[in-house]
Amino acid sequence: MTAQLDLSAFDALPPEEIVRRALAELSAPACFTCSFQAEDMAVLHLLRQVQPDIPVLFLETGYHFPETLSYRDRFAAKWNLNLRNLQASMSVAQQESQFGILNQTDPTRCCDLRKVGPLWEGLRGYQTWFTGLRREQSPTRANMKMAERHVLPTGEELVKVNPIAAWKWNEVWAYLSIHEIEALPLYDQGYTSIGCAPCTAKPTGDDLRSGRWGGRKLECGIHTFTEARQ
Ligand code: SF4
Repeated sequence: MTAQLDLSAFDALPPEEIVRRALAELSAPACFTCSFQAEDMAVLHLLRQVQPDIPVLFLETGYHFPETLSYRDRFAAKWNLNLRNLQASMSVAQQESQFGILNQTDPTRCCDLRKVGPLWEGLRGYQTWFTGLRREQSPTRANMKMAERHVLPTGEELVKVNPIAAWKWNEVWAYLSIHEIEALPLYDQGYTSIGCAPCTAKPTGDDLRSGRWGGRKLECGIHTFTEARQ
């Protein structure tokens, strides 16, 4: 079904309609990767209106802030989420004993082991992949489409759907406010982009993601390991 669809048609649609049409017209099964940041909560809220039991894939790296884990667990219970925690094959203790503190010495390898590998495995079998990515977040995301064909390293193809790609930061917060969705409490402390604790600091300027990886890199790799095809 998806192979014949003109995905560029999604670019003209509002987020609600992107979600509704993607779930109706793209191939199943669908999933959503969720870090429980503000953008993801908006997309998760949209998805739940149509498919409340959509699998929610969370990368449980072992390095998250305790606040993130308790917020995840609170919403998993409150919204009855179909939560799937994706974990690396090695525990944090095993990895640190074998390789040292990779998030300090080689964050790309650490992300490969704790995020990219588990996600690659976790996405297998899904045909449609929703995200909360926005173009404004990074130069690496500036040209993102609302719906894109992607190929996994295994050669399997899926469609990646980014319903709020065009939203600005204030639109995310307006959505949460209108729908009375409480955000991850770390935003109240001044964080504007939140991932693993060792690699997350408060922003240094207007760039909301400037606190990630101390400016050493822009992406963890989970949104760059697949190959986009039009
Ligand atoms: S964000 Fe940091 S701690 Fe988390 S997987 Fe990547 S390098 Fe490791």
